Amino acid sequence: MTTEHAARRVDSWQVAQHQFDIAAERLHLDQALRVILRQTQRELTVHFPVKMDDGTVRMFTGYRIQHNLGRGPSKGGIRYHQDVSLNEVRALAMWMTWKCAVVGIPFGGGKGGVIVDPKRLSKRELEGLTRRFTSEISVLIGPERDIPAPDVNTNPQIMAWMMDTYSMHAGYTVPGVVTGKPLSLGGSEGRNEATGRGVVFCIVEAAKKIGLDLPGARVAIQGFGNVGGTAAKFVVEQGARLIAVSDARGGVHNDEGLDVSRLQSWYQEHGTVAGFPAGTSIDNAQLLAMECEILIPAAMESQITAENVGNVKARIVAEGANGPCTPDADAEFARRGIFVIPDILCNAGGVTVSYFEWVQDLNRDHWTEANVNAKLREIMVRSFNEVMTIADHEQCDNRMAAYLLAVERVADATAIRGLYP
Ligand code: NAD
Repeated sequence: MTTEHAARRVDSWQVAQHQFDIAAERLHLDQALRVILRQTQRELTVHFPVKMDDGTVRMFTGYRIQHNLGRGPSKGGIRYHQDVSLNEVRALAMWMTWKCAVVGIPFGGGKGGVIVDPKRLSKRELEGLTRRFTSEISVLIGPERDIPAPDVNTNPQIMAWMMDTYSMHAGYTVPGVVTGKPLSLGGSEGRNEATGRGVVFCIVEAAKKIGLDLPGARVAIQGFGNVGGTAAKFVVEQGARLIAVSDARGGVHNDEGLDVSRLQSWYQEHGTVAGFPAGTSIDNAQLLAMECEILIPAAMESQITAENVGNVKARIVAEGANGPCTPDADAEFARRGIFVIPDILCNAGGVTVSYFEWVQDLNRDHWTEANVNAKLREIMVRSFNEVMTIADHEQCDNRMAAYLLAVERVADATAIRGLYP
């Protein structure tokens, strides 16, 4: 079975609610808090028209969901993908709530998505779709309310169009309505690379924890976009050897090591790592089964499941993606002693620097890249250690530890605010 087939059968929202339920049980969470936190708070579905280049009008469907606003405005990316669904966005929104709580930044969780394969649109069509979608969800978003950011297939240009559209409605420039913007529009230094950088900060700490020497360690990465591509660069800077990479269209393997900057140029030019000449072709199933010390799933949800978890040979699984491993896979990782850095910790670098960007925008300030990276490192290492302390104390796996930390923080905030009215 291909990983795509396995993924299609898993409902991410069921996974997210299941993960919450077991953490809530372990925390002996009050019944009221359980029913509140296992649901999303607001869900907006929009069907909207876009004029295509051939003059026809096509309808698209998109979502913006806010899971929880207890600790602050909701925060989370916008995904453009043909497989986007209401349940996927719900799961991603809930995971954002826990992620912001794990790293202690004052946001709740949100997420958005449009059902579209953006690679089939022209640049003008993509801009039209982005502007109309922004306009449709403007009833929910705003710098004090809900702040989108990039996710799969969205980027700084798309954030710029979103910011401009929102600002046109407002009548003045509102940089703080989205993060992940270009630098010239109030974007933060270091935001583009923040998620991958944060993943590697976690890997460095994890390697110390299990006594793995990073120099020479073999790394395999699924997904070579924003997260996978930048994680590749930073992990190699630590002396590790990138031996395999895959994406939606194929993969490449070379035990001697792949040259990241050449791979990045190839990816830019061809839109895929497939066909990269300095290695042999592999598929996604082979990537996940690679003999390596560190595996970084940095593509989509539910890639490692009951069906293929037995093939994973890595010592560390660093979840660059959101929800790449199902609960069945987690159980097997725990049984085999594989060290998982859970998504809500591992990929939190992106939202952390998004928070820095938002703070800079609200203060009309601009921080240096060195300052951003130092603050990011401090937060990632502190959060990693907090999760490890709980895992040791509670004798639980790392995902459960991260959930215990996050759910307790959100539950505390929700409880102390009280039930309105
Ligand atoms: P991206 O669009 O930049 O890249 C996605 C990559 O995954 C591409 O290389 C694509 O070809 C590959 N891919 C897609 N479907 C695949 C499949 N079925 N099998 C193998 N590869 C596949 O997206 P991104 O921003 O790098 O996001 C990747 C993951 O990281 C997502 O789960 C996203 O939610 C998560 N994430 C992103 C950020 C961020 O700041 N961008 C932050 C936190 C988490």
